[in-house]
Amino acid sequence: MAYDDQNIFARILRGEIPCDKVFENDHALAFKDINPQAPTHVLVIPKGPYVSADDFSAKASDAEIAGFMRAIGDTARALGLPDAGYRILANHGTNAGQEVPHFHIHIFGGKPLGPMLAR
Ligand code: 5GP
Repeated sequence: MAYDDQNIFARILRGEIPCDKVFENDHALAFKDINPQAPTHVLVIPKGPYVSADDFSAKASDAEIAGFMRAIGDTARALGLPDAGYRILANHGTNAGQEVPHFHIHIFGGKPLGPMLAR
């Protein structure tokens, strides 16, 4: 799947659409989800043009992968989540219901999150 540079997260990265930023480094941006599914629900996205977790894993540089993983931890700490615990999740493709074709990790927290998968 080719990267669509008009997807909503590409537009957020270019500053064309506002976001509620939580954290940023050279390789990643974290912002609040517009439709939160938990008291804390933040998205972390790479700044590069990667469609999905699979695309990012296959094509991103070591520096991008490191910067992205650091951003997840830094974001969770900025939100005060590590002590109580939190969940990270990435949807890839149709079976997972990925809606936005720019790779993103969800961070959920702020309450006990229940079973890992909806039944
Ligand atoms: P997915 O289903 O692709 O894993 O998750 C996409 C997420 O992006 C959803 O949780 C949705 O609420 C969020 N989202 C979609 N459009 C926007 C937007 O314009 N701004 C923000 N902050 N989040 C968005």
